[in-house]
Amino acid sequence: MPRIVFHLDLDTFFVSVERLLDPSLVGKPVVVSPGTARSVVAAASYEARVFGVHSAMPFAKAQRLCPQAVVCPGNFAAYAGYSRAFFDILDDYSPALEPASLDEGYLDYTGCHRLFGPPLAAAAAIQTRVKEELGLDVSVGISASKVVAKIASDLAKPAGILYALPGQEAALLAPLPIRRLPGVGPKTEPRLMRLGIRTIGDLAKLPRELAGQLLGTAGYWLQDAAQGRDDSMVSGREQAKSISHEETFMIDTTDPAFLRHALHRLACEVGYRLRKHGLKSSTTCVKVRYADFSLHTCSQTLTQPTDLDRVLFASGTALLQKVLTRRVRIRLLGFSARNLTAEKAQGLLLDLEGKERLENLHTAADRIRQRYGYDTVRWASLLRQDTE
Ligand SMILES: [Mg+2]
Repeated sequence: MPRIVFHLDLDTFFVSVERLLDPSLVGKPVVVSPGTARSVVAAASYEARVFGVHSAMPFAKAQRLCPQAVVCPGNFAAYAGYSRAFFDILDDYSPALEPASLDEGYLDYTGCHRLFGPPLAAAAAIQTRVKEELGLDVSVGISASKVVAKIASDLAKPAGILYALPGQEAALLAPLPIRRLPGVGPKTEPRLMRLGIRTIGDLAKLPRELAGQLLGTAGYWLQDAAQGRDDSMVSGREQAKSISHEETFMIDTTDPAFLRHALHRLACEVGYRLRKHGLKSSTTCVKVRYADFSLHTCSQTLTQPTDLDRVLFASGTALLQKVLTRRVRIRLLGFSARNLTAEKAQGLLLDLEGKERLENLHTAADRIRQRYGYDTVRWASLLRQDTE
């Protein structure tokens, strides 16, 4: 199955934040730079770029090219705040999120379609949220690899989405100038140009040994990238090793009904996050901390991976009985799901129809929670205990 990698890049990030802070800057050429004699341009608005101004250019040169530009010294605390809020939104769509700088990051969307729909729908939903919640435009490139996704988001600017479908990557890249390929910098570009390699397609067609001779190891990597091939992972995918919730009680307790109720709540929260990220768990673990601070844990391997509250809770209940070996009050209870996989569970189920119904019920409940908050939906068994 091909991977689905998003590259999300905020459009003219620093300038856009300056305009949120001071709307009078909208429509004017804006340059973000300390503005001292030896400083460089950190960012330039499209209106300033028309005059040839671009980021990393010496500020003095930018001023000669576009003397009417408004110069903003830069507000890095504000940029950092917007950046954090941006990644908070992205985190809702996949556990595998790799920030690449303040205003861009990769997200591995493989296996995440159940809650947010096909890739284009998810990308559009992210764009809408970023616009409505932050007032910023984001461009999205989608592909089976990171390098093509990055090029695609660049082509999609401003405020666009471009999906390079599997098998179409090389054709999309071929006509682009060689400098659009990440890794081809101001040193490599003229070297390739002298050899008549002007487009990404030219590099893709070069005999492999020649690419290696010309550019060393980087040559092989660049040629793979030119052909749309890049196996590098979005980091974070492997890091999501467990999802856990725990609760420290206001009053230490030995009450079995209270503990069972708390466990149910924790298992449901873990289940919700598993489904939110399209993951299933094949190991559950219950953790108990007694009033004397001693810690006891117990774990269980499930017969098949699950993301269902009922299955998680049943497993947790069995574990809780095993772990409660002392007649000492408990101050903390934790529940975690481990051995997470993004694949659909393999193997035949005895009660396929019943399971499907249960899955649909969870999906419906999760949709409502996404919209109106986690506490708007609770399972009847929890409510019963609440009113008892
Ligand atoms: Mg950007």
